[in-house]
Amino acid sequence: MTNHIRSIAIIGGGTAGWMAAASFAKHLPHLGIDIRLVESEQIGTVGVGEATIPPIIDFIRLLGIDENDVIRKTGATFKLGIGYRDWTREGDYYFHPFGPTGFGMGPISFPSYWLKYWLQNKASRLEDYSIQAVAAADGRFMRPVHAPNTPLNKITYALHFDASLFARYLRSFSEGLGVKRTEGKVRSVELHNESGFIDSVTMEDGEVIKADLFIDCSGFRGLLIEGALKAGYQDWTNWLPCDRALAVPCERSGPPQSYTEVTARKAGWQWRIPLQHRTGNGHVYCSGFTSDDEARDTLLANLEGKALVDPLALRFTTGRRNKAWHKNCVALGLSSGFLEPLESTSIHLIQRGIAMLLKFFPDRSFEQADIDRYNKIFEFEFGRVRDFLLLHYTQTERQGAFWEHCRNIPLTDSLQEKIDLFRSHGRILREDTELFPTGSWLYVMIGQALRPRGYEPTVDTLDQQAVKTNLDDIRAVVRKCADAMPMHQDFIDKNCRAGN
Ligand SMILES: Cc1cc2nc3c(=O)[nH]c(=O)nc-3n(C[C@H](O)[C@H](O)[C@H](O)COP(=O)(O)OP(=O)(O)OC[C@H]3O[C@@H](n4cnc5c(N)ncnc54)[C@H](O)[C@@H]3O)c2cc1C
Repeated sequence: MTNHIRSIAIIGGGTAGWMAAASFAKHLPHLGIDIRLVESEQIGTVGVGEATIPPIIDFIRLLGIDENDVIRKTGATFKLGIGYRDWTREGDYYFHPFGPTGFGMGPISFPSYWLKYWLQNKASRLEDYSIQAVAAADGRFMRPVHAPNTPLNKITYALHFDASLFARYLRSFSEGLGVKRTEGKVRSVELHNESGFIDSVTMEDGEVIKADLFIDCSGFRGLLIEGALKAGYQDWTNWLPCDRALAVPCERSGPPQSYTEVTARKAGWQWRIPLQHRTGNGHVYCSGFTSDDEARDTLLANLEGKALVDPLALRFTTGRRNKAWHKNCVALGLSSGFLEPLESTSIHLIQRGIAMLLKFFPDRSFEQADIDRYNKIFEFEFGRVRDFLLLHYTQTERQGAFWEHCRNIPLTDSLQEKIDLFRSHGRILREDTELFPTGSWLYVMIGQALRPRGYEPTVDTLDQQAVKTNLDDIRAVVRKCADAMPMHQDFIDKNCRAGN
């Protein structure tokens, strides 16, 4: 007799709940697991979330879903990176593209030799060597094509989509694979007397839902992981002080950009995310440094078109659950923690949680070693994303009380080490399963005006003329390839226009 998990109850049908349902239904087909998802239309979902990062493309492919179909049905556009306006100081702009930039020379990486020549004013901006950055600046997009030895081979992209429509898409996919959906509110959660494991949830109509494994996707409230299991929450507002957001869609005024734009504001920042049918906007801010009315005025004064509805107000506490997996309950999505959306990481962290859960998938013995390892990875990855966000806030010369406060936030040891390594010889360390690649750190460090004192000594082993030729060639090839790419709107019209 096997000890397999026989039933999974997913509580919550937002993006997290349906991503989990779709993944379990697709990737656990032969265990005969009964998968049930409970959601309440009356409670609804958080109703925001539009920008993703490149691994979302793998998520879609692994489900065996047609990417163009997802794009059509969620009104999605393509994203090549993030443009940062006014972050370092008013009037400044830098771009954080996805994907690789340039290529190495023997054992010396591109960032290493580029940095030496850039510090000597002999190389141009980092962005000029990235196909993503150049294409985004020109409003272009195309998927990678087989073109050996050109950057067209490696175009790296993500999507901007309406996360609620994505959840709806995954719902019909999951139901097609046998996931059962129950509409209604969970009234209470019952625990086993001895083990403290979750035994069942009881719905408002009295129905009792039992399962071996519970997935808490109930959003900020953390109905199971916190409400019932009291896993505890680490408040990270000392590092990431923004605690409110206003989100509002508006009419589009021109063709969609192939990137997310984020603009620093007096006490936070504003996003602009183009979808096919509208533009998503939001203002993330710190309530200690601006009022809700002022934040709303700032948002509404900086839209590219007419607001389509009243802004939606959200409150949050950045941080993470002490244990995302506790006993027979795994929290995914907002119930597991929240890091503000500056680098579009929330949906990705759901995806990571699902992937890790599949890797450490339990049986009914719920081995503590599996649970501990899952929590350790989750803790590490959440922490490194926090560091990356903290970098944006602390390394800035912006004026004003909020930004002065941010400049004085004590760095985490892990971020301090990264900055020290960079300041000495421009080195960037990527540890273990850290999400952001060295290129991302480099773009943001340079963009936020961090300057190393020197460069890696081994770069001097390269022939100067060869480096110069290489830099010129890469830049020219990137330019030429970007010029050959279609405009973003034309690519969408041809391949994946919404409503077609
Ligand atoms: C301002 C803001 C901007 C964001 N922008 C981005 C972004 O650009 N990119 C990104 O990746 N992420 C972003 N996010 C995060 C993203 O929105 C979430 O990670 C994602 O939507 C997942 O939410 P969720 O499914 O965990 O929770 P929710 O969407 O809140 O879903 C919770 C579900 O639980 C159900 N539920 C709750 N209580 C009960 C109950 N008692 N009984 C039955 N059902 C119940 C609800 O009905 C709902 O179905 C943003 C978040 C915020 C706050």
